Amino acid sequence: MREPAEIEIRTPDDFHVHLRQGPALSGYAREAARRFGRVLVMPNTLPPIATPGELASYRAEIRSAAPELTALMTFKIQPGMDRATVRSLRDAGALAGKYYPLGVTTNSEDGISDTDSVMDAVAAIEAEGLVLCIHGEEPGAEILDRERAFLPRLAHLARSFPRLRIVLEHVSSAAGVEAVLALPERVAGTVTVHHLLYTMDDLIGGRLDPHLFCKPVVKTRADRSALQRAVLDGNRKLFFGSDSAPHPRSAKESAQGEAGVYAMPVSLPLLAGFFAERGALDRIEDFVSRFGAEFYGLPPNGGSLRLRRARWTVPEEIDGVVPLAAGREMAWRALDR
Ligand SMILES: [Zn+2]
Repeated sequence: MREPAEIEIRTPDDFHVHLRQGPALSGYAREAARRFGRVLVMPNTLPPIATPGELASYRAEIRSAAPELTALMTFKIQPGMDRATVRSLRDAGALAGKYYPLGVTTNSEDGISDTDSVMDAVAAIEAEGLVLCIHGEEPGAEILDRERAFLPRLAHLARSFPRLRIVLEHVSSAAGVEAVLALPERVAGTVTVHHLLYTMDDLIGGRLDPHLFCKPVVKTRADRSALQRAVLDGNRKLFFGSDSAPHPRSAKESAQGEAGVYAMPVSLPLLAGFFAERGALDRIEDFVSRFGAEFYGLPPNGGSLRLRRARWTVPEEIDGVVPLAAGREMAWRALDR
């Protein structure tokens, strides 16, 4: 059956974004608000979001930049964080706590080296009905193996806390997909458009593409196939989180280039193309507008968004950042909501 040239979906959510801080924040937040109703905002700012006061002022900063965007707030789990702090963060409106292993990504120099050091905080996250979001990479493991090497910790956390809801963020490997699908219903995963569509060949197979460099890194064709199969299957345990992580061009085109892909502006067009090419455009709405909200226990967004088959070229730069697929022609366009 030929796919339609336009589809209307419920307003989508993005369950993993970095909006940064300071003057750059407003451009990124406004870009998000054009297509997404809600975004789960990651807390790895400097300093991190780890107290109720920081959470409230960060939310206010986002709200003033993009009043029509609902910022779903998270906090960064600190080694030794106690239960009272987690409760106060929940009272301030946090939906989730984020687990960053030591040194695996941007601003994780204060991350967790020993899972035991956060057991109190994780117990409180479970008790308060919050979600544990995990950057699942094992420090010290080989770069392509870091996600797989972390999976025993994921299983251990799921076993130790039998009511805890866990999201393995930006699942990037076949082993990661398999682990999420095998664990109980309360363990889910976010999937980015770059891990779904790109591999190491795109990153370093020809000329180096620093704008596709992220953590976890894009992996092999077999890993990509496993992600694609599971997403096309319409499995409700996998939902969209862009891990949109903008850095200024100069911080990416550098001898010490930062990790992070600015995926927000092109995620929906790329996803529409992915689903449409496989005759599965009717599945995109569950992936971007339904499964994530259901996992987080949120009502569906009001309103809708149109995805239209129409050619356009991704700008070379948006707000000083080179977006994913810069300069490339897209077959689908996401209209503003
Ligand atoms: Zn991230």
